[in-house]
Amino acid sequence: MKKSTFSSPSIESETIEKLSAQLIQTTQALYLANEQLKREQQQKGQMLANISHDLRAPITAIRGCIDYLNSGHVLSEEDLKSSLQLIDRRTRTLECLIQDMYFLFSVEDMSRDFEFTTVEAAPFLEEYFYDNLFDSRYDDREMQLELSPDLNCRISVDIQKFIRVLDNLFTNAAKYSEPGASIALSAQTVPSHDKDTVLLIEVSDTGIGIPQEALAHIFDRTYTVSSARTPASATGSGLGLSIVNTIVQRHGGNITCKSKEGAGSTFSITLPIIST
Ligand code: ADP
Repeated sequence: MKKSTFSSPSIESETIEKLSAQLIQTTQALYLANEQLKREQQQKGQMLANISHDLRAPITAIRGCIDYLNSGHVLSEEDLKSSLQLIDRRTRTLECLIQDMYFLFSVEDMSRDFEFTTVEAAPFLEEYFYDNLFDSRYDDREMQLELSPDLNCRISVDIQKFIRVLDNLFTNAAKYSEPGASIALSAQTVPSHDKDTVLLIEVSDTGIGIPQEALAHIFDRTYTVSSARTPASATGSGLGLSIVNTIVQRHGGNITCKSKEGAGSTFSITLPIIST
């Protein structure tokens, strides 16, 4: 005898309801992923536009100088010297930009592993501070180290890359401040939003500060507030803080900045703690 298959209509409609809910969820997730992809695509396009723009400026200056040197004008020794100095400066800007671009792409490449090592936070930061205390970049700056006395936690860092983070923040603190300004490195443990304890590392300066309207963009790729604010001797690619942000995020951390024009800036990094 032939067996009849039977399923109750209520079970069927329950299954259909579940499936359609799942389908709606998947469609929403796909939509969000698609939007994210579009945003990333736009950011990449914007970054390429910024980089092309930043590459063009020094190249135009070098080209102008070479044309001048080739023009058959009788050149004084002074002219020759200043033309060569300009070519030297602009070539250094290009080298700096290309190096930073390469570094940014390599830290953003998720397939490349970071080499994490567990370190004691306090000695790690102390060593960094004292290694740099007498660097000529910080001549005429008052350097301060403020580690909380009970700081005895351990963190997981890619040492070279995290040193790059501190270097960038310290160099900016010196670059965007006048002689006599203070630069401080501080660290303490604090509760995070989800109640876990995290390590808070801050690099503060009493420099020129950042305009409020620029604060939202300083971590963007190749963002420079204004070339008028950068001392003539300083060469920067505008990629520094973007590199810093990417490295901190790949450590599972977060970076923010508070600043007031004319009063100074504080960059705050939170990092997960491995153990106390
Ligand atoms: P740059 O190569 O231009 O220094 P960064 O990505 O390091 O690029 O910084 C982006 C911009 O943020 C800088 O052009 C500068 O205007 C601003 N900025 C960064 N750090 C500081 C600071 N400590 N004080 C004032 N402005 C800063």
